[in-house]
Amino acid sequence: MDRYDVIIIGSGAGGGTLAHRLAPSGARILLLERGDYVPREKDNWSTRAVNVEGKYAAKESWRDREGRALHPHTNYWVGGNTKFYGAALFRLRREDFGELRHAGGISPSWPIGYDELEPYYTEAEHLYQVHGERGADPTEPPASAPYRYPAVSHEPRIQQLSEDWMRLGYRPFPVPLGIMLDERNPRRSRCIRCETCDGHPCLVSAKSDAQVVCVDPALQYPNVTLVTGAYVSRLGTDGSGREVRTVHATRNGAEEVYRGDLVVVSCGAINSAALLLRSASDRHPRGLANGSDVVGRHYMGHINSVLMALSKCPNPTVFQKTLALNDFYFGSEDWPHPMGHISFVGKLDGVTLSAGAPAIAPGWTLELMGRHSLDFWLTSEDLPDQQNRVTLDRDGRIVLSYRPNNEQGHRRLVAKLESLMQQQRACAVHGHECHQGLFSRNLFVGQRIPLAGVAHQNGTIRFGRDPQASALDTHCRAHEVDNLYVVDGSFFPSSGAVNPALTIMANALRVGDHLLGRLGSRRSDAVATGAMGAAV
Ligand SMILES: Cc1cc2nc3c(=O)[nH]c(=O)nc-3n(C[C@H](O)[C@H](O)[C@H](O)COP(=O)(O)OP(=O)(O)OC[C@H]3O[C@@H](n4cnc5c(N)ncnc54)[C@H](O)[C@@H]3O)c2cc1C
Ligand code: SF4
Repeated sequence: MDRYDVIIIGSGAGGGTLAHRLAPSGARILLLERGDYVPREKDNWSTRAVNVEGKYAAKESWRDREGRALHPHTNYWVGGNTKFYGAALFRLRREDFGELRHAGGISPSWPIGYDELEPYYTEAEHLYQVHGERGADPTEPPASAPYRYPAVSHEPRIQQLSEDWMRLGYRPFPVPLGIMLDERNPRRSRCIRCETCDGHPCLVSAKSDAQVVCVDPALQYPNVTLVTGAYVSRLGTDGSGREVRTVHATRNGAEEVYRGDLVVVSCGAINSAALLLRSASDRHPRGLANGSDVVGRHYMGHINSVLMALSKCPNPTVFQKTLALNDFYFGSEDWPHPMGHISFVGKLDGVTLSAGAPAIAPGWTLELMGRHSLDFWLTSEDLPDQQNRVTLDRDGRIVLSYRPNNEQGHRRLVAKLESLMQQQRACAVHGHECHQGLFSRNLFVGQRIPLAGVAHQNGTIRFGRDPQASALDTHCRAHEVDNLYVVDGSFFPSSGAVNPALTIMANALRVGDHLLGRLGSRRSDAVATGAMGAAV
């Protein structure tokens, strides 16, 4: 049985970032990942392979609360879902850390304030090479340093939209993006600004994903080991139940057992909850670290819509995800509650649209719609409902029970966008007739069950100060298990309405500092007692 100082399970935004933070410490670190490296091949950039055939998507079947099959829109690879993300790297707003009253109920406060996470947001932005413009987003929280890279420019159609919105008195701003684009030096730029970024792996490794930015550099250290194809099925504790002793993984059809002094779970919010539930024992009958009964509960995934605004004029934009609008994030003059965030998905094409079975606008083909649409991504906050939860069925398979809530604000947000689009400046060719309206579309191609869209999953192992109401303490350590931590999106007590990855990365750095402190004191104790090296 191999023994490590730290075992990290899952190599995505949380686990990959943590491995990067701990690597220089010299501690023996094992990264266990159920997936492999995404193969580098032309299909990385094929909308047919990625969006229609689901070539890289998880081939699992979960169940919804009614027992119907659910094919999750998630990805098991080194780097986790960041291999496929759109790399829009937002901070939560300062207010998201406090209690916020929504039309549908209360978004609870976090046990730490924004100021505690701020330095780590800055570090995460630098690590993931975020390109952005400070001060342009009216809801942006204060930051201790500028972005290191300039914002990604808008292509002409997006620039025109940005100007239209500014003319109406709004404050659109450039999306902070983790792509390695150097617009001043296009010949040397690693990123070529292509149309297949959001939802695709980057064939030229120019997306700041957790594999490229964190895992591969961490593996340069001799003390860091990555084992791929290792599905962690269970964690075992000592007799007291206070310490994880064994990590059980299935690899190549056989069970392997690892030992780590510190064990960090980072499988994504749904799989991490499932792992703790699967690790139930006499000492932890409701699931490991689940005396509070919160593990698996409060699942959140955001209320998201993709809306296509069609024009008679084509939209030739290649890289579309550059513009966002947060003017309605906390409400508006005519609606005092939060509505959310307006942004874009990557440019949709006819092939992608064919898989989602969207309503076809009268007089259009899918191919034409793809060439003429602006493709918006709207996000509103869903609230933590304890009945929205991950459980396991009798066969140990994941069951995801979810009833949407807080939808009123989202409907308002859609109406706001509709009204904005109707107020665009008249087009030189078609006048105001150019705009054909807004059409909704189910993003989650091949699956018409919106619940399958678990891209923004979070909240299932919440952190907090009260062990009766949370599973993790403020360092994301399990209240009941001294050497067990969770650093993926599970820890969120509420989710705000911006994309979650940067918050997961920043928190992993914060927890990493705490773990470095713990590793450091263990090392000095070992040196003092002359036991250094005996454990390895
Ligand atoms: C198409 C798409 C677009 C997105 N766009 C954005 C965006 O623009 N901005 C943004 O902020 N967020 C975006 N997201 C969400 C973002 O990718 C996630 O929030 C983030 O990756 C979550 O990090 P995590 O560490 O919680 O989990 P993940 O990144 O999913 O990592 C979990 C890892 O654990 C592994 N794993 C799971 N179970 C086990 C097990 N039992 N044993 C071993 N390993 C296991 C998985 O294979 C995976 O590598 C997007 C997601 C998708 C799918
Ligand atoms: S080249 Fe740039 S735009 Fe294209 S996938 Fe890679 S990071 Fe994204």
